Amino acid sequence: MPLDLDIAVQAILDRVLDRARPVGGGELADYIPELAAVDPDRLGIAIASVRGDVHVAGDADTAFTIQSVSKPFVFALAVDALGLEAVLEHVGLEPSGEPFNAISLDEATGRPLNPMINAGAIVTSSLILGGTAEAKAAHIVDGLGRFAARDLVVDEEVFSSEAGTADRNLALAHLARATGALTSSVEVATTAYFRQCSVAVTARDLSIMAATLAAGGVNPLTGDRVISADAARWTTSVMTSCGMYDESGTWLVRVGLPSKSGVGGGIVAVQPGQFGIGTFSPRLDARGNSVRGVAILEALSARFGLHVLSQGPEMRSPIAAVSEDGDHRIAHLRGELHFAQVEELATRLRPLLGGDGCLVLDLEGVTRVGGAVREVLRELPSIVGPRPDGGPAIALRDPDGVLDPER
Ligand code: GLN
Repeated sequence: MPLDLDIAVQAILDRVLDRARPVGGGELADYIPELAAVDPDRLGIAIASVRGDVHVAGDADTAFTIQSVSKPFVFALAVDALGLEAVLEHVGLEPSGEPFNAISLDEATGRPLNPMINAGAIVTSSLILGGTAEAKAAHIVDGLGRFAARDLVVDEEVFSSEAGTADRNLALAHLARATGALTSSVEVATTAYFRQCSVAVTARDLSIMAATLAAGGVNPLTGDRVISADAARWTTSVMTSCGMYDESGTWLVRVGLPSKSGVGGGIVAVQPGQFGIGTFSPRLDARGNSVRGVAILEALSARFGLHVLSQGPEMRSPIAAVSEDGDHRIAHLRGELHFAQVEELATRLRPLLGGDGCLVLDLEGVTRVGGAVREVLRELPSIVGPRPDGGPAIALRDPDGVLDPER
């Protein structure tokens, strides 16, 4: 990535954090002493692209426990290993519209409504390979580490506290066992689940984990295929419908990114095909979502048009601006150039061709060019040919070599 783009991204992240810093309200989770002892003013953000660039600001390397942010990733590991249909025999895919720890089992099937609430997540954890809680937990911690591109460890103090304050989660597990949704023992399922919740991560880790989902299951830093592309799509889908608990519908309208929060103060958000975001700020709203994390994601989405359902012409336009330099016209292009974008370029730039001077396609803001498109663009000046006075009708400016054949 060119240096100036790095600086621009850094400036944006710093500004986003500066705006979120004064946002007040919310309380630390206090159901166990370890979470109540965290510094409430910590604030960090990280963004990892599917190309493996990671940008961070604030307390992006401060460790906290992953808690419920683990749920989509463990669901992803389960559906990757067993297939979607096998997992759906144990847990549903419908939003519950209820808090994360609700007693939420489908009346007809007895399955927890979805894998993002505790009842469903306990069942999902139980489906991970391994005959004992320790074996399942080891698989889970290893899998989360493959998403994060580093070895992760369990915060043993948080784990002991989670396991010692477990009445409600034990009750959920017992109910799921009574309906047949949970087939391993309550002890095995909940121990694996509590270890999973107690894994220590940073906002940087969360961004890379989310970027792995955004990249269709391949970790952009290690190149490791962590899960299948199908598993990644199923996971971002269930994050979209259920990731923010009883806030999920509002979240989809306001932020429009598949996301998941945890009571440790973390939030992950995924923009499929583009990047992953991780935020950390431990003060929580009444639903258990990080107050400033929510504020940051709302601001990012609104200001940078990240909503996954935004398909307006402005959103996708590859033309950032057109400027003039004497007789020449310069079209400043941006983003990824694939067939759809080139088709748009052809239509919108046609009126700018001809006459005196040259039409310059400035590719400085372009991040990637699809293979076939690259060849066409390289040949474009000769395809279009010269203008009547003999000078070139089209020229390309490609300072970062996005059209180089070996890229
Ligand atoms: N460990 C917490 C629990 O099981 C996780 C909940 C959450 O992060 N929302 O209650």
